[in-house]
Order: sequence, then C-alpha cells, then structure tokens
Amino acid sequence: MQLERKRFAVAVALVIGMLAPALAPALAPALARAVEASGPNRFDTVVIDAGHGGDDVGARGAEGLLEKDLVLDIAHRLAKRFGGNGLQVVLTRRDDIFVPLEERTSIANDARADLFISIHANASHDTKVRGIETFFLSLAASDDHAGQVARRENQAFRIGDTPAKRSDDALVAIIGDLITKEHMEESNEFARLAQLELAGDPQVARGVKQAPFVVLEGVQMPAALVEIGFLTNRLDEQSLRGAKERDRIVSALVRAALEFGRRYDARRGVGSR
Ligand SMILES: [Zn+2]
Repeated sequence: MQLERKRFAVAVALVIGMLAPALAPALAPALARAVEASGPNRFDTVVIDAGHGGDDVGARGAEGLLEKDLVLDIAHRLAKRFGGNGLQVVLTRRDDIFVPLEERTSIANDARADLFISIHANASHDTKVRGIETFFLSLAASDDHAGQVARRENQAFRIGDTPAKRSDDALVAIIGDLITKEHMEESNEFARLAQLELAGDPQVARGVKQAPFVVLEGVQMPAALVEIGFLTNRLDEQSLRGAKERDRIVSALVRAALEFGRRYDARRGVGSR
C-alpha cells in the first residue's frame, strides 16, 4: 500500500513536471490576472508604443518628415498629459532606438498595463489618400488596405513572416488564443472611442479597422494601433509638422483613454477615481 502510494506520487510529479514547462508561458499571464483579480484592478496604467526607431525609420514624408521622429514626439506629449491625469505611463521606447516588436509586447505585459496604444503614421502609393485610421488586432484583415498597413508595420518583426507563429503545442496555442480574444471587445471599444475623438473632421475619418499587427499580438490587455495621418499626403504631412495638430491628436487620445478608463472601472465594479 505504502509503495503504491509512493509510485502514484512519483507518477503525478512526473506528469506535472512534463506539463509545467509547456503550460508555464501560457498560464503565467492568466495567473497574474487571477492574482490581480483578487484586488480591484483599476484603470491606472497605460503603455505608449512609439512605432519604429533607430534604423527602422518607418514611413517617410515627401518633405522629409520621418514616422519614427513624429510618433516619438507624440508619445512624449501623450505621456506628459496622461501623467498629469494621474495615470502611470510606460513607454516602449524613449529615444531614437530600435526596439523589436516582441520586446515591446513584453514591456507592456510586464507592466501589467490596462491599455496599450501603439502610435504610427501611414503611407500610401496614392498621395491623395489622407486621414486617421485606428486598428485593433484580428487574425484576418478587415479589407485589402488594412492588410497592407499591417504588412508594412510588421516589417520590423524579424523573427518570422507569419504573425500567427506560436508555440507548436496545440494546447498552449488554444490558451493563447483565448487570452487574446478576451481583450478583443475592449480593444474594439477603445479603437472606436479614439477614432471618434481623433477624426473630428469627417473628411479625414477613415474608420476603425482590423488587421494582424505583430505588435498587438500577445499583448495581455486591451490594445489599439493608431495611424495618425498619411506622411505621403502633403496636407497631412504639413499639419503633422506643427505642434497644433500634434496637441490636437494628443488631446483626443487623452479624452478617449479617460472615457475608456471610466467604462473599464465601471465594468469591474471599481469606483471612479
Ligand atoms: Zn509605422
């Protein structure tokens, strides 16, 4: 009897030992959230991701404005305003350096933030195209243009071609999928609020779209990517050079994030700040 029990214990230990390494990466975020759920999870931390950086300049304006410089300036302005509103802010890059997309995701997850905002500027072969687009993650692009934007923004992802590349372990892949989908609705909600606040001029409102962005994949929180204008359009580039348009964009994103935060807290039964 004693021996049987010992054998059983050894077998259980072996099975746990075999499963643990495979499950750990997928379960760690879920565990982190379970711990968080034991206390009130207030909307208080935002990750701001300035796209590109370093050798990766991103889109280039006809007059020479570079996406990497523009979005870094917007990120700093936004961080200052969020800080002024009592929010904690984490920047995925503070300077003109290249940060791999998967590292940006890790920074956001380590911060256990409540919202991830990735800031980019658009480009098109058609120089007449202008305006603001907001994206949230999905495995399928909502239209051809959305797919092209994702392909361009994913170029910095140097590990593999397919954004859907995940663990070979089927179970881990399924858990990973569920965790991402859990935030889909809230990501959509923030994307809509942002689009509403940003695109006051219906001439420049291009809407909310979905596409497989690597930088949004694996982010364990509501996340959206904002394309603040087309650098390939002269009018957009001109206005994006000025502080007035930059501050307008920042104010719009602050309003959207604060409204999102109010709803986020209300859903979780957390009183207003
Ligand atoms: Zn970009």
